[in-house]
Amino acid sequence: MERHAAIIGAGVIGCSIALELRRRGFAVTVIDRNGDAGHGSTSASCGIVRRFYSQPGMIAMAHEAAAIWADWARYLGPVEEDLAVFRRPGMLFIVPRVDETVLSLLAEMQRIGIKASLLSPEEVRERFPHLDTASHFPARPVSDPAFLEPRDRPIAGVIYEEDSGYVVSPGVATSNLRRAGEREGVFFLLNRQVQAIQAASPRRFRIETAARGSIECDVVVNAAGPHSGIVNRMAGASLPLQTRPLRREVHVLANPLYGEAGGASLPVVGDLDGGVYFRPEAGGRDIVVGSTDPECDPKDFVADPDDFGEGITDLYRERQCLRLMQRFPAVRLGPPRGIASLYDVTVRDWYPIADRTDLPGYYVCIGTSGSSFKTAPVLGSLMAEIIQSGEEGRDTDRDPITLALPRIGVSVDTRFLSRRRGELQTTGTVIG
Ligand SMILES: Cc1cc2nc3c(=O)[nH]c(=O)nc-3n(C[C@H](O)[C@H](O)[C@H](O)COP(=O)(O)OP(=O)(O)OC[C@H]3O[C@@H](n4cnc5c(N)ncnc54)[C@H](O)[C@@H]3O)c2cc1C
Repeated sequence: MERHAAIIGAGVIGCSIALELRRRGFAVTVIDRNGDAGHGSTSASCGIVRRFYSQPGMIAMAHEAAAIWADWARYLGPVEEDLAVFRRPGMLFIVPRVDETVLSLLAEMQRIGIKASLLSPEEVRERFPHLDTASHFPARPVSDPAFLEPRDRPIAGVIYEEDSGYVVSPGVATSNLRRAGEREGVFFLLNRQVQAIQAASPRRFRIETAARGSIECDVVVNAAGPHSGIVNRMAGASLPLQTRPLRREVHVLANPLYGEAGGASLPVVGDLDGGVYFRPEAGGRDIVVGSTDPECDPKDFVADPDDFGEGITDLYRERQCLRLMQRFPAVRLGPPRGIASLYDVTVRDWYPIADRTDLPGYYVCIGTSGSSFKTAPVLGSLMAEIIQSGEEGRDTDRDPITLALPRIGVSVDTRFLSRRRGELQTTGTVIG
């Protein structure tokens, strides 16, 4: 008989897991309190797809995911709606220093076939003349009187990924995953807030939802994004790693190069030196800018993910827009536009937790830390493998999953995503 998995959360993560689990023969129900898939934090995502990470395993997973986004129609199979599009204008990582760590990550990227190279400040000026190449590291608070002082020192260098970019749009991509899942038999229970997760009998769960009762299942997957901690508490599952919701804002400004040759194909920039990331939006008419969490800015963890103040604020606008203007001086401040949302952050290292738990049949794909839109289809496949193996009796704590990434021909030891992992050397920011 088919085992029945209930996935809590119809964001990009829950919908990816649903499709992959269904393809492995599970009966799958996705439950969400919203009226459609992708209406949680995924809807605010910038959809950036890059491969530069601090962990070689994540570099490979992101590279595999980029191959999926590049071949989205084939991955999904036929769906009757417009498909998300992967635009690839390239991506620059302005790194604070070009040290052994950065060079070894670059070598790892090149080893697995990623088109990445190191650019000097001179090469950046020549190829991307709209960018200022002064170094601002370590970033200062925008309230510091020295913030606007001119800097003489140039950036250390740039890791350039030729064919990285962004998906337009994360909401459409998630809807595509929903439609593909439904075509293959995934059932979506929408407008249903999960309120309790109980044991119905040994190894069976009963999920109580607000209005219209409960469902029973063999497997529960927590894919509740910024509500992951609340759902873990409902299930009585405690994890060695903590996840917490963190406030984010993304601001929108007019692209000063729109209409000029190349204006629509500006590269994505991850400015780890200056403290922001930005990319073109709306066919190149606009630019969206987010933060790369410079140390000088306090982090706004919120106690209640349902009460974080959904409007954009002057504080974040100033921080992000002024830092953008340092790097891209032709940009001008316009009327406030943007969005506020939440990351679900794994506090210790900013890497997702994709794992079983100590509660048999209860699995998590949480703590996606502001950078897991891109890898969602690969995390979906990892979760399906973890769940299938676990339900077949394999102890994935003792015998962890090595995930095959067929599109890039690499296999990855996935222990760095387990709940019991040791210390990871990471940036401790959205960069991972
Ligand atoms: C501003 C911003 C920018 C980002 N930019 C990027 C980027 O450029 N590149 C990248 O790779 N990643 C990016 N990310 C991260 C990425 O978008 C997230 O990692 C990803 O979308 C998380 O998906 P999710 O499905 O886990 O969460 P969500 O999309 O939040 O989905 C969780 C779902 O669970 C539902 N839910 C919660 N509690 C319950 C309950 N009790 N009952 C029923 N349903 C419930 C919610 O309604 C929601 O729909 C960004 C994120 C943000 C916020």
